[in-house]
Amino acid sequence: AAKAAGKNCVRSSGEALDRAVDRRARLAGDLPAAIAGGGLSLVFQPVVGVQEHRIVGLEALVRWHHPEFGDVPPDEFIGLAEDDGLVVPLQRWVLRVATTALAPLLAEGHDLRLGVNISIRHLQAGCLATDVARALAESGTAPHRLILEITESVLMGAGDGMENDLDTLRAMGCGVALDDFGKGYSSLARLARLPVRVLKMDRAFVAHIDDDPRAAALVASVVQLGRTLGMDVVAEGVETPGQLAALRRIGCGYLQGFLLGRPVPADRLPLLLAGFRPGVLDGVPSHF
Ligand code: C2E
Ligand code: MG
Ligand code: MG
Ligand code: MG
Repeated sequence: AAKAAGKNCVRSSGEALDRAVDRRARLAGDLPAAIAGGGLSLVFQPVVGVQEHRIVGLEALVRWHHPEFGDVPPDEFIGLAEDDGLVVPLQRWVLRVATTALAPLLAEGHDLRLGVNISIRHLQAGCLATDVARALAESGTAPHRLILEITESVLMGAGDGMENDLDTLRAMGCGVALDDFGKGYSSLARLARLPVRVLKMDRAFVAHIDDDPRAAALVASVVQLGRTLGMDVVAEGVETPGQLAALRRIGCGYLQGFLLGRPVPADRLPLLLAGFRPGVLDGVPSHF
C-alpha cells in the first residue's frame, strides 16, 4: 500500500508539474493579446499622508483577468512578460492608462502623486525615460506627479547605464521610490547615492510591528534612516488598527494598506477621494 501511495504521489506531483508548465505556456501565449487587446486593467490604492491628513497618492497596480484561469496575479505574469520580451509594451500600457486615469482627478483640483511600478527590463531596454515622457505629454501630466517605484534588488544591482535613465527622469522632475525596502539586500552606502526620494518599507516589517518589539525597532530605524537621508517613508501593508497605532507612535509619515483603502478601479476614484475621512488615521475603519 505504501508503495502504491508512493507511486500515486509521484504521479500526482508529476501531474501538478505538467499543469504548472501548461498554465505557464498558456499564459505566455495569451499575454501579447491581453496587452494589445484589453485583457488588462488597472486598480489604484491610496497612500495616506499622516501630516497632510489626506490621500496624497495613488499606486497603480496591474490586473489580468484571463478568460479561462480567472484573475492572474501580477507577481505571476510580470515575470512571464519579462522573460518573453513583453515588458516594454506592458509598461507602456500601464504608464499610458495610469496617467490618463489621473488627469481628470488633477483637473478637479486633487493634489495627488501617482506611483507606477517599473520593471528592470524596461530600464535595461533603454527606453524608460522616453516612454515616461511620452505618457506624461499625451496625458498632460506634470512630471512631478509621477513616482516610479523600483524594487530594492533591481536598483541595488542596476548598472550605470540604468542609473543614467533614472537620472534623466529625475532631472525631468519625476520621483523615484525604492519599493519593498528591507526585503532584499541593501548597501547603505549605495542607498545614500541613489536618486531616490521615497522608501516604501516592505509589509513584512509592518506585519509584526505590534507584537514583536524587534520588528518595531527595525521600523523605527528605517523611519529614522529616511529622515537622515531626506526621504519620505511609506509603510506598506497596514492591515490592523494595532499596526496603524504603532506606525503613528514611531512617526512614519505615509501609510498604505487594506486598512486605509483597498485598490479600486479608476471609476471609483472620485468616490474614494470624496469619501476619505481623516478618522481612518485614528483607526476608524474606511468604507473602502
Ligand atoms: P508592490 O508594488 O509592493 O505593490 C503592493 C502589493 O501589496 C499589491 O499587490 C497590493 O495589492 C498589496 N497590498 C496592499 N496593501 C496590502 C495589505 O494591507 N495587505 C496585503 N497582504 N497586501 C497589500 P499586487 O497588486 O498583487 O501586486 C504585487 C506586485 O506586483 C507589486 O508589489 C509590484 O511589484 C508588482 N506589480 C503590480 N503592478 C505592476 C506593474 O504595473 N508593473 C510592474 N512591473 N509590476 C507590477
Ligand atoms: Mg509598488
Ligand atoms: Mg511594495
Ligand atoms: Mg511587492
